[in-house]
Formats: sequence, structure tokens, C-alpha cells
Amino acid sequence: RSRSSFLVPMSYSLRNASRSWFLGEVEVNALAPCDATFEVGSSTAVLGPSGSGKSTLLHVAALLDSPSSGGVWHGDDCVSGLDDDARSAFRLKHVGFVHQTYPMVSSLSALENVALPALFAGLSRDEARRNAGSLLADLGLGELGPRDVRTLSGGERQRVAIARALVNDPVVVFADEPTAALDTATGDLVLDLLFGAVGSAALVVASHDERVADRADRVLRLKDGRLS
Ligand code: ADP
Ligand code: MG
Repeated sequence: RSRSSFLVPMSYSLRNASRSWFLGEVEVNALAPCDATFEVGSSTAVLGPSGSGKSTLLHVAALLDSPSSGGVWHGDDCVSGLDDDARSAFRLKHVGFVHQTYPMVSSLSALENVALPALFAGLSRDEARRNAGSLLADLGLGELGPRDVRTLSGGERQRVAIARALVNDPVVVFADEPTAALDTATGDLVLDLLFGAVGSAALVVASHDERVADRADRVLRLKDGRLS
């Protein structure tokens, strides 16, 4: 699992990016204009209390939501400005996202769930399964592959979800409160896996768990939608 720095830019950034909502006539600034750069091989914790804008920042940065102003840049490309199809294709190939509550397709095995983004990215069924299998093995999760996802524990599901976020070898991986639903020991295992995988991507973890801050190379703090 290696990426040539000549082919794929190594930085991913928010430039003056904001997100506001209109509730009737009232404009709510969930994210004030902010700048942040995430470098491949480094990890960033985004900390802040509930409602401070962590999920908003992650969703905008991951192209799951559009900025109200400013943009999201991958090297010299403004990827938030791509048309819908190109943006989806970029996201599928280069952006991993780990949700708080690890949604899975319950009719598929763990390995098949991990293989899905590779299949969507255009790999054959065999190639996608092979990539998923070797990734699970690399991550020490090989024995989970054949399991019916309905029988996995929360911690096992979250580790499978991390593998799924990595299967297309993304440049950036976002995780939104990945330990919020887990007990302390299980949360530590999940963080071990997530931070262990950082070498091949930029990692951005939103949390109000100070353990995340301890592990990250850098901490950004959000308060009322403002980064400090
Ligand atoms: P956090 O993840 O830190 O808990 P969020 O990013 O979810 O914070 O929310 C930040 C602010 O944006 C909150 O005030 C929240 O109510 C508001 N918000 C988030 N999503 C929406 C939405 N779809 N419509 C209106 N307001 C929203
Ligand atoms: Mg949130």
C-alpha cells in the first residue's frame, strides 16, 4: 500500500470554508470561515463540545456537504467545486469516512462490506474482494472477514468500518466521534487501528474524547463554529 507523491497531492485543505443554515429567516453559522490543511502522514484531532461544529466541518471537508463559502482543496484542485459526478468519484476514490455508528449492509459479510467501495470505484468483484481481504489481514482483522456483520460487536463493526474507509487507499480519512458508542478498552483498540493506519493518509478525528488529543500530531479546537 504505497502512493507515489508524483501522482497524488499530499495535502488536503479547507480554505475560507464555512457552512451556514437558514432556520426560517435566521442564519445559523454552524462553521465560520476557516482554514486548515491536513497533510498525508499526519493526524489531526478536532475537539469541541456538542454543537460546536465538528460534524459540520468533517462533512464539508469530506465533500458530504457543500461549503456556503470558500472551498475544499486537494493540492491545486478545488474539489468542492467539481460537478456532482466528478465530486462523487473523487470522494469515492480519495476520501475515507468513519461514522460514529458504523452503518453496514447487513446482508453482506464483513469482507463484502469492506469490498463495496472498491467495487463502486470500478474494480472487478474478484479484485475488490482481494483488496478487502489483504487489507483486513494487514490490519490484523482477517478472522472478521467471513463474519455476518449482524453478529459483530460494536468494536468489531467499528474496526471493519475503518477497513472499509481505507480500502481505496484514500489521501484523507475522517472519523466522526469513532469511539463515542464504545467502552474505554474497546475505544482504545479502535484508536490503535485508526492511528496506526495514518501513515498512508491524512487522518482527521472529531471527538470530545481527550484520548484522541493525546494521540494526534495536532489538535484543532472548535467553539461555536470557530476554529482556534
Ligand atoms: P457537533 O458535531 O460538534 O456536535 P454539529 O456540526 O453537528 O456539531 O452542529 C453544529 C451546529 O450546526 C449546531 O448548532 C447544529 O444545531 C447546527 N446544524 C447541524 N446540522 C444542521 C442542519 N441540517 N440544519 C440546521 N442546523 C444544523
Ligand atoms: Mg457531531
